[in-house]
Amino acid sequence: MVEHGTGERGERVDRGVHGERRVRAVVFDVGETLVDETRLWAAWADWLGVPALTLFGVLGGVIERGEHHRRAFQILRPGFDHDRESAARAAAGRATSVERRDFYPDAVPCLAALRAEGYRIGLAGNQPVDAEATLRSLGLPVDVVASSAGWGVEKPDPAFFARVADAVGLPPAAIAYVGDRVDNDVVPAAEAGMLAVFLRRGPWGYTHAELPGVARADIRLDTLAALPEALRPFAAAGLGPGGAAAAAPAGDR
Ligand SMILES: [Mg+2]
Repeated sequence: MVEHGTGERGERVDRGVHGERRVRAVVFDVGETLVDETRLWAAWADWLGVPALTLFGVLGGVIERGEHHRRAFQILRPGFDHDRESAARAAAGRATSVERRDFYPDAVPCLAALRAEGYRIGLAGNQPVDAEATLRSLGLPVDVVASSAGWGVEKPDPAFFARVADAVGLPPAAIAYVGDRVDNDVVPAAEAGMLAVFLRRGPWGYTHAELPGVARADIRLDTLAALPEALRPFAAAGLGPGGAAAAAPAGDR
């Protein structure tokens, strides 16, 4: 039984529970969900003057202890100032930013497939503000690009997920949020009333897959190639294969 209601913006929405058809937008975390950050972290190791494996291993310990990833820099270089070092790297011509080649092979095809099925697509992660311009410059098949730095609020703050819903222009119940972390993605997205999708890959994904909180995910996947099919039982009417053609124009929703 689907209960119909009116969203904040006056659009008709399906306020379903799991398994009912309701999702109209899919919003993705960026780091290790869409982007393989190996090259970016290895560049930081070079800058710090340690082997890449050393930084990766220290990061793994930080993840296991549930600490912020920037703690890895503090362990390797006490007093490390991330903003100052980023500026120094840029001044030295050694800055690195996300490029199209950094995306996991299943990422862009997944974005394109979901958009073709009629979903609104967003990117919103805990990212520095310049990452927004970088992501916009890559010609990705997305409708919304946002970041924690741009909004001034980081995951897992509930305010971040409220901003996601606002940016997409739909109520939380109409949004699927996809991420590789239980603490920053799955639990707060579920708490916000979104469909929570957990992706088990990257250093957080494999580690967090063993946490009890992973049970909060409505969908658990090892690859984004499986996402379009996995979303089908939750999709709003008119979305799915051939959905972009079948879906009503935005103004009629
Ligand atoms: Mg991530």
